[in-house]
Amino acid sequence: MFSAISDEGVIARAIKKSIVSMKTWQLRDFSDNQYRNVDDKPYGGGAGMVMQVKPIRDCLSTIKKDSPDTKVVYLSPQGKKLNQELVEELSELDSITFLCGRYEGVDERVIENDVDMEISIGDYVISGGELAAMVLIDAISRRLPGVLGNESSLEDSFANSLLDHPHYTRPEVVDGQRVPEVLLSGHQAKIDAWRLQQSIEKTKLKRPDLIDD
Ligand code: SAM
Repeated sequence: MFSAISDEGVIARAIKKSIVSMKTWQLRDFSDNQYRNVDDKPYGGGAGMVMQVKPIRDCLSTIKKDSPDTKVVYLSPQGKKLNQELVEELSELDSITFLCGRYEGVDERVIENDVDMEISIGDYVISGGELAAMVLIDAISRRLPGVLGNESSLEDSFANSLLDHPHYTRPEVVDGQRVPEVLLSGHQAKIDAWRLQQSIEKTKLKRPDLIDD
């Protein structure tokens, strides 16, 4: 699954430039049985399977031999909800290990003992932590110096608690819709002022909660 971000696009280029490195671990390699199982039925009964402590703990011990200070993040709908502020915080860390759940999730003792932080990508449930981890890897990587090759992430939505301003490209007129005149004026101060105004208006309209915050 992770080749979706490691083989193409921004993260792949960041890996090539050695700004980011990424390694995936297969929990089944840490299974203690011939079927390579890493899950079992829940105590107390009920639907679904639960990921066992031992393979996760053994895998984390192996990871920590090379990266003793890695922060272990369990992707979970029960975690702290991801936002740009949290992305900025995480981008300061040297190493993060993303633990991706499946089935009903991991045995609670892993969360109590082995996990530094639980992060949710939103109030909904997806089938596995991998997509959530990729969201985080992308969001964090694009904040690292040299990854985007310009400062465009500083103008993205949420960078200053506002949504991004509107963008236009060629042609000037499409089906009667014109590019705002100010963008063709060549007057940078006026363009900047217009963009800021647009950001404020858009934020008030689409995400008034950001302004309130
Ligand atoms: N039984 C769990 C619950 O209700 O809290 C949901 C388990 S979910 C089907 C399987 C895995 O997907 C989770 O262990 C977690 O790693 C991942 N996952 C699901 N929703 C997520 C979300 N909103 N944010 C981050 N990870 C999520």
